[in-house]
Amino acid sequence: MASEIRLFPCLSDNFGCLIHDPATGATASIDAPEAKPIIAALEKEGWKLTDILVTHHHHDHVGGVAELKQKYNCRVIAPNDKKAAIANVDLRVKEGDTVKVGGLQARVLETPGHTLDHISYMFDSEHALFAADTIFSIGCGRVIEGNHAMMWNSLLKLRALPDDTRVYCGHEYTLANIKFALTIEPDNAALKARAEQAANQRKAGQATVPTLMGEEKRANVFLRADVPAVAASVGMSGKPAAEVFGEIRERKNRS
Ligand SMILES: [Zn+2]
Repeated sequence: MASEIRLFPCLSDNFGCLIHDPATGATASIDAPEAKPIIAALEKEGWKLTDILVTHHHHDHVGGVAELKQKYNCRVIAPNDKKAAIANVDLRVKEGDTVKVGGLQARVLETPGHTLDHISYMFDSEHALFAADTIFSIGCGRVIEGNHAMMWNSLLKLRALPDDTRVYCGHEYTLANIKFALTIEPDNAALKARAEQAANQRKAGQATVPTLMGEEKRANVFLRADVPAVAASVGMSGKPAAEVFGEIRERKNRS
């Protein structure tokens, strides 16, 4: 039986996300921005929370952990960060570890840059990536704790995943990301198509997530810092991709 995934809004622009294994009844929440909408989503489906898979220590990703742990006595899995900033953790994981949610399996990918502890969860059999604040649709997270080269390497790690990977991210930022990306790649046909699709999704009150990795490779300027035309458009032809990425990220910060 295939897994079931539910995506719903939390806080002002975060996503809550549940992945459920019908065979065993196990259900994991990817991060826990706040407890209330996660409990509502679980009750709507009749699912019981067994696990929380934390991606990084920011409050808008762990704010609901304590309440959910108390209510469901679920297992909390979190990055193996040295500061142990995340509370209520049962299992700390690192690159290459495998996490089981009932019969489902996720590979842990360390994707630092936004924070030093950031990890992503790749459910290979489900073709589903939960990347929180590392990659957004047509965007990427702010580089807060790491540096540009570190973030670029994390994005390369995600870009290497199969094209049919469904990308789930932590925030609904797609329209603003597209507006910015068009300033760098105004003639990118895949980006223009994504702009139209995302505008229609938002008009219909739908989330723009998940997206497919293959589409992100073609339309997400932050994954395209090693494309010569992208480097040229920011005046950095021939420069290392990590530096081109850094320039694009800085421009987005100022936009
Ligand atoms: Zn964050």
